Amino acid sequence: MSYDVEKPDEQWRAELTPAEYAVLRQAATEPAFTGEYTDTKAKGVYSCRACGAELFTSTTKFASHCGWPSFYDPKDTDAVELVEDRSHGMVRTEVRCARCGSHLGHVFAGEGYPTPTDQRYCINSISLRLAPDEA
Ligand SMILES: [Zn+2]
Repeated sequence: MSYDVEKPDEQWRAELTPAEYAVLRQAATEPAFTGEYTDTKAKGVYSCRACGAELFTSTTKFASHCGWPSFYDPKDTDAVELVEDRSHGMVRTEVRCARCGSHLGHVFAGEGYPTPTDQRYCINSISLRLAPDEA
């Protein structure tokens, strides 16, 4: 898989903070209930912190109480890439930025949340940057 935005690893390391790099480029997970957007209700667009691609909007963000920002749908289906993830002895679906391939989180389905899709895009705050709507 090749991405529109591809950079050598050392460039990602230079551009991102160590914590951002660990999540976005090494698929780490930020600790639950610590991310800056976990409970954010501000209206706006969430972009990829690595490349700036618009990924999610506040419209589909919902209170999942799982400890990470949760969305029931991406901004555009093409904005994210879904990849089977068999790490940690589980089969999960990893969510990546479709433009740069950076790790965002995982998507879970059928959990019974009262949302239109019954999906939960469980996304690390540190993978995103919120651009709030003009008041
Ligand atoms: Zn990206």
